[in-house]
Amino acid sequence: MAETALRGGCYPSGAHASGNKWHALVTDDVSEMLGTGDRGLDDDEAARRLDRFGPNQLPEAPPTPAWVVFARQFRSPLIYILVAASAVTLLLDEHVDAAVIAFVLLLNALIGFVQERKAETAVRSLMRLVVPRAHVVRSGRELEIDSRELVPGDLVILEPGVRVPADLRLTVTNGLQVDESLLTGESVPVTKQTEPVPEDAPVADRSDMAYMGSVVTSGRGRGVVVATGASTELGAIAELIRSEEAPETPLQQKMGAFARMVGVVVGVASVVVFASGVALGGAVDEMFLTAVALAVAAIPEGLPVAFTITLALGVRRMARRNAIVRRLPAVETLGSTTVIASDKTGTLTENRMTVEKIWAGGRFYRLQTAGGGQPEESAGGRPDEPGVGGWLDDNGPVALEEHDGLRLTLLCGVLTNEAEMRRTDGGIETTGDPTEVALLLAAATAGMDPARLRARHLPVAEIPFEPERRYSAALRSSDGRHVVYVKGAAETVLDMCTRMLVDGSAEPLDRRLVERVAHQMASEGLRVLAMARLELDEPLADPREFREPGGLVFLGLQGMIDPPRPGVPEAVASCRSAGIRVLMVTGDHAGTAAAIARQIGIADESDEVVTGAELDGLGDDELRDRVEKVSVFARVSPEGKLRIVRALQELGHVVAVTGDGVNDAPALKAAAIGVAMGRGGTDVAREAADMVLADDNFVSIAAAVEEGRVTFGNIRKVTFFLVSCAAGTIAAITYGVWAGWPLVMLPAQLLWLNLVTNGLQDVALAFEPGEKDVMRDPPRPLREGVVSRLLWERAALAGLVMAIGTLALFRWELDATGSLERAQTVALTTMVVFMAFHVGNARSDRRSAFRVSPLSNPFLFVATVAALGVHVASLYLPPTQFVLRVEPIEAAAWVRIVAVASTIILAVELHKLVRSPRLGRHTRLRRHTPS
Ligand code: ADP
Ligand code: MG
Repeated sequence: MAETALRGGCYPSGAHASGNKWHALVTDDVSEMLGTGDRGLDDDEAARRLDRFGPNQLPEAPPTPAWVVFARQFRSPLIYILVAASAVTLLLDEHVDAAVIAFVLLLNALIGFVQERKAETAVRSLMRLVVPRAHVVRSGRELEIDSRELVPGDLVILEPGVRVPADLRLTVTNGLQVDESLLTGESVPVTKQTEPVPEDAPVADRSDMAYMGSVVTSGRGRGVVVATGASTELGAIAELIRSEEAPETPLQQKMGAFARMVGVVVGVASVVVFASGVALGGAVDEMFLTAVALAVAAIPEGLPVAFTITLALGVRRMARRNAIVRRLPAVETLGSTTVIASDKTGTLTENRMTVEKIWAGGRFYRLQTAGGGQPEESAGGRPDEPGVGGWLDDNGPVALEEHDGLRLTLLCGVLTNEAEMRRTDGGIETTGDPTEVALLLAAATAGMDPARLRARHLPVAEIPFEPERRYSAALRSSDGRHVVYVKGAAETVLDMCTRMLVDGSAEPLDRRLVERVAHQMASEGLRVLAMARLELDEPLADPREFREPGGLVFLGLQGMIDPPRPGVPEAVASCRSAGIRVLMVTGDHAGTAAAIARQIGIADESDEVVTGAELDGLGDDELRDRVEKVSVFARVSPEGKLRIVRALQELGHVVAVTGDGVNDAPALKAAAIGVAMGRGGTDVAREAADMVLADDNFVSIAAAVEEGRVTFGNIRKVTFFLVSCAAGTIAAITYGVWAGWPLVMLPAQLLWLNLVTNGLQDVALAFEPGEKDVMRDPPRPLREGVVSRLLWERAALAGLVMAIGTLALFRWELDATGSLERAQTVALTTMVVFMAFHVGNARSDRRSAFRVSPLSNPFLFVATVAALGVHVASLYLPPTQFVLRVEPIEAAAWVRIVAVASTIILAVELHKLVRSPRLGRHTRLRRHTPS
C-alpha cells in the first residue's frame, strides 16, 4: 500500500498534515490510496506500517531536568533556617558543626531528590495503565487496540464518548456529532458526514474528517486513519496545549502550612532563647550556638521525605487493589469520602446479562438451560452455556412457529442490536454491549441465527442506543416492505405504542397491564427491555427521514438477570460501618434498582426509590432534603446525577461518584472524587475522573477509600512522631538555657538525632499497614489538620516526658562525672532510646502499643533496631566520636537510660486510656444496616 499511497502523492511523509487533501477526496479513493477497505488492514500489514510510521503518540513534554528537581529540594522555610544556622555556626568558627549542618542539607536534598524522582516514575507508570484504546476493524473483525498502535489505513469505529484517536477520513456516519473544541475552540458539537469538501476548506469546515483529540458526543461512525502521532493536526499544535504544572494538592498545602508554622515557632523560639539566655548572663557566642541547636532540633528534617514516600506508597497500594489514581489529591480526599454514589450496571453488578424471562403475546416464557434444569438450579442462576437450551412455557418446551409473539419479540431484539456473535469451535464468541449480547443469545437459544436474520432484514436506517434516549430503533427492509423495530426501556417504548400483539393479532394497547408485568419482572431484579414494531404501509422514501417512531405495536418484554458482583454486599456494609453512605444512581427501572439495592444491602424493604422524573420536579431545597434520606435513584439522566452530586455537596458531603457515559463528565468533575471505569467507560469519563477502576468494580472504590484512610493515617503518625520528638528536644534545650546549664546537646548531635536515628524510623512509619478499624471510624473532616487537637496534646505530653527524662539524666551524669562531654552523650542517648520507644506509641492513635505486633511492620522493627545499633556504634567509632563529640558510656548509665526512657510508653498508654478518638458514630449507623 505504501507504494500506492506514495504514488497518490498525498501521503503525509512525516510532514505537517494540513498539507494534504484527504478531505477533498471521495472515500473510495482514500481507501484505495491507503490500501484498506471495509475489512480494515490485516495484522501483518498493520505491524509493517507501525514499524514504518512509528507509534501513534504525540511527542511528550521533556521531563523536568534533574538539577531543577534537586534545586527544588531547598525551597522550604525549614531549609532556609538551616542554611542560616550553618552560616552562624561558621561565623563562630565552629567548623565541624557548620560542616555537619551543610552535609545534612545536601543529604536531605539528595534523599528528597531520589524520592521525588521515584514517586514521579511510579505515578507515571500508573498512568500508563490507563492507556487510551481504539476500536478498530482489522481483517474484518472488530477489536480494541492500544491507540498507540494505530497506523494509517486502519479503520476506526466511533461511538459516543470516544476521543478520536488519530486523524480520520470518515467513511460511514450515522448522526455522528463531534466536539472539536480542542482544535477549533468551538465547543458546540459539529455534525459530520462523508461527502468530500472543497480542498481549501479550513479545518473547522472539513465535515468529512474527524481529527485526533476531538470527542464524539453522539451518533456512530467509521473512518480511515490518514495521519497518526505528530503528523496529525493536533500534533501540529501540541506545543500549545501541553498541560501546565500541576497545582499543589490540598495535602501539600497543608504540609506547606505546617512547615511554615514550624518555621515561625522555631524562629521565635530561637530568638527568645538567645535573648533570654543573654539576658540571664550567658555568653553571646554560646547563646548563638544554642539558638542554632534549637532551630536544628525543632525542624523535622525527615518530614518531606516521609511525606513523599507515604503518598507514593498509598498510590501503589491503591493500584494493587485496582484503583488507579489520576490526581494525587484524590489519595487524601478518598479518606474523607462521606458518600459514594455508584452506578448499578457493571459496578455493583457484573454486567453479564442473561435473558431469563420473556413476556410475549400475553404469556410468560422461561429459559431452559443446557443441563435441562431451571435457571435457578444451575450455578449462579445462569445458563451453563450461552445460546444453548430452549424456551419453556407452562406446558414445557415451545416451538417458535406456534408462538408468534415470542418469535417477534426475539427477532426485534436481534434487529435493533449492534452486538456481534460468532460461532466458533469453542462455543460462541460475542462482542458488544452486554445488554445487546444477551438479546442475541436469547434468540440463539430459541434456535434463531442472528446473522441470517440480519441478512434477510436489511438495515435501511438506525437510531443507535444512547442512555439518554433509553431506546434504539432500526428501519429494516425485507421483501420490499419497510418495518420499524424498537427496543428500550418499557416506559419509553410504551409511549410509542398504540396497539399490542395478543394471540397473533394487534389489539388496542393495555398499558396498565404491560406496566404491571414490567414492574413485576423488575421487582425480581430483572433488567426489562420492551420490544415493539410497525410495518410501514409504504417504504420510507428517504432513510434520513427516519426519526423517533410512533404508532407501534407492542410485542413483548425481555427480562435479564445481572447478578451482583461478589464482594459487593460486604463492601457496602464496610462503607456503612465507616460512616459512608452508599447511593445507587442508575438509568434502570425503579423496580430493578430497588431489587438489586436490597440484594446488596444499599436499601431495605421500606426504603423508597426516587426516579429521575420526580427529581426533575423537585426544587433545590426539596432535593437536598431527599438526597439525605433516599439511597436509590432510578431512571436518572446525567443531569439528574449532576444535581444529586451538587445537592450532596451543598450539604457538606465529600462525594465520590461513578460514571461511564459522555454526559457523566460534568458530574465526575463536580464531585470531590470522580470515578471512571477502566474497561466499560468512555474516554471522556476517564479523562474527567480523579480515579479509574481497572476492574469497574464497586469493591475497588471501597478499597481505595480504605487505602486513602490508611495513607492519611500514616502521614499523621509520622507527623505526630516528629512533632513529639521536636517538642522534647526544644523543651530540654530551652530549660537548660533558662536554668543556666551548659548546652544539653550540641547542634551536630541534634542533627544526628533528627536525621539518622529518627530519620530511619519516620520513613519506616510510612510502611505501617492499615489499622484493623480504619473502616469503623467516621470519615475524617476534610478541614481537619494533619495533626488533630488530640494528637497535639499527646505530642506535648510525650515531649514533656522526654525533656524531663533527658534533663534529669544529663544532670545526674554531669554531677557524677563532671564531664560535659559524657553528660551530653548520655542526654543524646536518652533521646535516642526515648524515640525508639515512642515510635511504638505512634503506631496507633488509640490502641495500646502492646496490642500492635512489632512484626506487622517489619520495616519499622528493622529501622528501630538499626537506629539503636548505629547509635551505639557511633559511641565507639573514632570518626563519629570526633564529629558528634560522644564517648562510650558505662553499663549503669545504660540501665538508667532504658528505665527512664521506657516511662514514655507508660505516659502515652495512660493518655490513650483517658483520651482516644471517639468511635461513637458507627454504632448509630449500624442500626440502619439491613440484616
Ligand atoms: P444503567 O444505570 O443500568 O447503566 P443505562 O443507562 O445503561 O442504565 O440504561 C437505562 C435503560 O435503558 C435500561 O433500563 C434499559 O431499559 C435501556 N437500555 C439499556 N441498554 C439498552 C440497549 N442497548 N438498547 C435499548 N435500550 C437499552
Ligand atoms: Mg449502562
